[in-house]
Amino acid sequence: MSNKQAKPVHRDLKQDDLIVIAGAGGFIGGSLVRYFHHLGYTHIRAIDKKPLDNWYQRLEDVENLCLDLSQSESSIRAVEGAIEVYNLAADMGGMGFIERFRVECMRSSLINIHMLEAAYQAGVNRYFFSSSACVYNTLLQQDPNVRALKESDAFPAMAERGYGWEKLFAEMLCQEYWAERHMKTFVARFHNVYGPNGTWDGGREKAPAAICRKVIQAKDSGTNEIMIWGDGTQTRSYTYIEDCVKGIDMIVHRDDLTATPINLGSSELISVDGLVSLAEEIGGAKLNRKYDLTAPRGVAGRNSDNTFIKQVFDWEPSTPFKEGLTKTYRWIEEQYFARKAGERVVEDAF
Ligand code: NAD
Repeated sequence: MSNKQAKPVHRDLKQDDLIVIAGAGGFIGGSLVRYFHHLGYTHIRAIDKKPLDNWYQRLEDVENLCLDLSQSESSIRAVEGAIEVYNLAADMGGMGFIERFRVECMRSSLINIHMLEAAYQAGVNRYFFSSSACVYNTLLQQDPNVRALKESDAFPAMAERGYGWEKLFAEMLCQEYWAERHMKTFVARFHNVYGPNGTWDGGREKAPAAICRKVIQAKDSGTNEIMIWGDGTQTRSYTYIEDCVKGIDMIVHRDDLTATPINLGSSELISVDGLVSLAEEIGGAKLNRKYDLTAPRGVAGRNSDNTFIKQVFDWEPSTPFKEGLTKTYRWIEEQYFARKAGERVVEDAF
């Protein structure tokens, strides 16, 4: 892993140019709003279909709009006057969601089609699409001791059913909007992003948040037992949210990455059992492990090959998993006890 600092980003963006972030009520979109706001950009429009009260993060001096972007007219409204558009809106969740609700996942095509066309008609300078490691050929991911996936491994295509194919289709749309219509599009393939201010309960949460919550619950209830989906040998790499938003900014402002999908993920591989051990260590617990072999478990192993991103930026996401998981665990613990005390806490329902 490289611990090098990222070089400064050269943005062709004025401080008051309009930045539009779709899916801003969610985990990564909300964090990206905060990131640009923190950099001093004064004109940010944040959009999500969730009611404003359910957004994970909401900043007062940002234009916050509640719009369903699967509708063409909402997408047109969303990008009015935009210089840059970041599309992080999608109906998605962890394995439990994407294996069960493939239709919902594939219907995100409506968002991507309308947002791309609206952005093109509005003449935006740069358009970002949040793709996923789920586009990769599943036949290459049948062993926990995986070879890390490089960008060319998406083809020949055999993506994750539903969600992965939808992402692959949207990537191609982005490439064609550049090839035929000369709108600059940028595509990052995220690898399991985690951190505070994301879904931690309700069915859409991903493994790191789910395991933290289960450890907290087991300690609190005194059962001292944890149910793990699969046999615990599945491996993944997990990307801390701060690396993710920084990486998005870097990718979008590199012209040589136009219409070129690139991995944005950590290459620190860990098994689900390893993740449980880490969460136990953070929580100061030792739990009896039970394994649900019928639960969704996804591919056997997946890691990010970071050769390309290191070559372009001399940088890769490198927050150590233990450090990021500790911050995530503490945040979920706060949410858990606030909910228990009857305080308002956002929950995702589907
Ligand atoms: P999230 O579910 O927290 O956020 C997505 C947001 O999109 C939600 O708030 C949702 O309400 C909103 N949305 C859904 N349909 C919409 C619509 N029709 N109109 C407007 N808003 C709508 O998910 P996230 O983790 O923040 O993911 C953001 C993006 O990154 C998604 O495209 C996701 O597929 C992609 N991604 C995430 C991960 C990850 O590990 N979190 C991994 C790979 C790819």
